[in-house]
Amino acid sequence: MIDVRLAIVGSGPAGLTAALYAARANLEPLVIGGVPAGGQLTLTSEVENYPGFPEGIQGPELIELFRRQAAKFGARFLDDNVTGVDFSHRPFVLRTGTNGTVRAQSVIVATGANARWLDLPNEQRLRGKGVSACATCDGFFFKGRELVVVGGGDSAMEEALFLTKFATHVTIVHRRAQFRASRILQARARAHPKISFVMDADVVDVHGRENVEGVVIRERATGQSRTLPAQGLFVAIGHDPATEVFRGALELNEKGYLKTRDITRTSVDGVFAAGDVYDHRYRQAVTAAGMGCMAALDAERFLEEEGAPPSGSPP
Ligand code: NAP
Repeated sequence: MIDVRLAIVGSGPAGLTAALYAARANLEPLVIGGVPAGGQLTLTSEVENYPGFPEGIQGPELIELFRRQAAKFGARFLDDNVTGVDFSHRPFVLRTGTNGTVRAQSVIVATGANARWLDLPNEQRLRGKGVSACATCDGFFFKGRELVVVGGGDSAMEEALFLTKFATHVTIVHRRAQFRASRILQARARAHPKISFVMDADVVDVHGRENVEGVVIRERATGQSRTLPAQGLFVAIGHDPATEVFRGALELNEKGYLKTRDITRTSVDGVFAAGDVYDHRYRQAVTAAGMGCMAALDAERFLEEEGAPPSGSPP
């Protein structure tokens, strides 16, 4: 059993920034970082849009720097998964995979979200080699290339429009005849001279030895397959927030994201949210980090107002 004032669940930019601020406020936070730790940035190669790194930085290296900075001020780390929670009373209880139980006066949930993938035979092998789920992160590397975006929601439209800044042509492939994207984004995509559409078709594989060379699609009406020449495949079929373990303990919206009020406050007083586990709109490392900072400041204020005992004290 470990007793702490503040437990932070998740170790991406949101969790680690919360840890930095909380550690500097002497809250001695315990980061239960998840296995594997570090979140989506650890799956990215070059990050060129995190302020302060004009030459860019590798995603895993950025996470390592966040972690070192938080540790320097006293944040502690448990590389473990949270497998169950009891938020019905304080101290809150978090059960972990291998380290037993953590009791915390306050909790920040920063477990993030995961991009959905298509499960194509060659998709994972070519991730980072032309297959991506983030145009904002990777679009810049596709100057002068032909690209395919798969999906029919706002993300697909937005990613395709963004990619036209770099690509010579973008084909949006969608499995149905209607998009679910908002009218305005659909209209913008339709009006763009570099964007074309393949409707009623599934992406069934992606080709390429070292890098993506083509995207195989199958038309639903005829069952016929053909290969679209492309050097990049952007999968924009949605994200799943990592909230399963909090279901029933915290209020979630219809898509499973944490519901909050006053930005970071969840439905339970003393439990705060930060990053993509709440934010399905911006989903950037820098916005997640910003919200991690807010959650730490809110947790600090909460603990001050509640007069929580220092960590290690009997409950
Ligand atoms: P989404 O609205 O859930 O759309 C996902 C799309 O991917 C759907 O068209 C879906 O097809 C398709 N899809 C899902 N699984 C698939 C699969 N296995 N194979 C092929 N296609 C698949 O997700 P999103 O576009 O990421 O948007 C998420 C939320 O963020 C939405 O509320 C959206 O409005 C919001 N958002 C807003 C903005 C903005 O306002 N600027 C930008 C981005 C996102 P079906 O249509 O057939 O189900």
